[in-house]
Amino acid sequence: MKKTEMEAILFCVHCNDETPHIITYINSKIISVKCEECNKVSEVKVDILKEFFKEMYERLLTKPSRITQEYKEDLNKFLKHLPIRLASKPYRLLRDLNQSRKIIKNFKH
Ligand SMILES: [Zn+2]
Repeated sequence: MKKTEMEAILFCVHCNDETPHIITYINSKIISVKCEECNKVSEVKVDILKEFFKEMYERLLTKPSRITQEYKEDLNKFLKHLPIRLASKPYRLLRDLNQSRKIIKNFKH
């Protein structure tokens, strides 16, 4: 799960003008748009937990097919790299989980 901020010129109904806005994304979904002139924030309703589970599900789902693809391409290479990869996977997942948890926590406030 990734939080991204982007700046864009948008029309603000409050200022009644085109002003710089900060757009905040989680993954590829917009969660809020803030006008930099009047600081008015427009929150976009996103089911943050649903996003999170969807991402985890997709990640787990795409892993086996990717491994199969590599297995087909080069068996020797695959076998040589497999133990390292399997060892680093739980750590990576855990790190992503912690990061996602932080985003979810901040989002709820
Ligand atoms: Zn404004």
